Amino acid sequence: MANSKTVLVTGGAGYIGAHTCKELAAHGFAPLVYDNFSTGHPDFVRWGEFVHGDIQDVPRLTRLLLEKKPLGVLHFASSIAVGESVEKPDKYYRNNVYGTLCLLEAMLTAGVRDIVVSGTAAVYGHPDEVPIPESAPFDPASPYGCSKAMVERLLLDFETAYGFRTAVLRYFNAAGADPEGEIGERHEPETHLIPNIFRAACGLIPALKLFGVDYPTPDGSCLRDYIHVCDLASAHRLALEKLVGGQKKLRLNLGTGFGYSVKEVIEHARRVIGKPVPFKVEERRAGDVPALVARADLARKTIGWIATRSSLDSILSTAWRWFEKDSLKKVTL
Ligand code: UDP
Repeated sequence: MANSKTVLVTGGAGYIGAHTCKELAAHGFAPLVYDNFSTGHPDFVRWGEFVHGDIQDVPRLTRLLLEKKPLGVLHFASSIAVGESVEKPDKYYRNNVYGTLCLLEAMLTAGVRDIVVSGTAAVYGHPDEVPIPESAPFDPASPYGCSKAMVERLLLDFETAYGFRTAVLRYFNAAGADPEGEIGERHEPETHLIPNIFRAACGLIPALKLFGVDYPTPDGSCLRDYIHVCDLASAHRLALEKLVGGQKKLRLNLGTGFGYSVKEVIEHARRVIGKPVPFKVEERRAGDVPALVARADLARKTIGWIATRSSLDSILSTAWRWFEKDSLKKVTL
């Protein structure tokens, strides 16, 4: 197993998973994508082998792990929309908590012990301290954040009981797209800020809904720390290499340490794409918190990660290029 270059990537047909497969392939690993296409896309599977399957199917996953003997697992398959999680908490606990438990059981049976998991800044909820250090207590404000906090607890217990080596990468706001334009962000329905800004600017929706301008922030809209998806991808590869090298545990924020308000992102986007962005102020969205900004130095110190592509200009320009190719093309056909 030590010589294997195969890495099982659950949710490898999704936005962050697919970018990470590209990163893995570029560094000599062989991604093995495992995805049920519930939210992933067949055309995002471009690097490595593909197996269609569900993480809750423990026998199938166990057989696959025994057959392929990957050196580790990158676990992206999960439900990710804060607002939806408030309306459908059962879906979040099933897909995220139970789904991860199924994966860990399959790994235990198959003797695969190293796993890097998608975490989130949503575990922190309303932090006392911003920028938020990794040591901040968990106080999730949504079932989504809570489900990911529960996943972290599962991992801790599997470390203690079974000697798993685990990394949780707590993303702040994933954004941007592959600079070569091969893959990017595509969610159905789209709930994320930057693609929705583009949709409003191009008339695909009448106006961006700006959720809340009465937050305790400088301009009243929420502050978020936007991180380029390719920087997230490199962090996964580095974390996996660290675990395989013997590190037992990693809990890392992935952010830039700098927050932009929703209004600032709208203004930046207007300049980058050269189009006005119509928006309409709406009520706050359930589950949102005022400010999520990372203290971001631990990932640099422990895995040597540096976010090189995460300026807002780079995020917006790569995202825009992808949006033009992926969404506008369909409209003009
Ligand atoms: N947001 C918004 N309109 C949208 C989508 C998002 O005003 O159509 C706001 C949202 O309330 C939050 C920020 O933009 O303050 C980032 O939201 P997103 O859904 O992109 O990521 P999240 O912070 O939920 O992970």
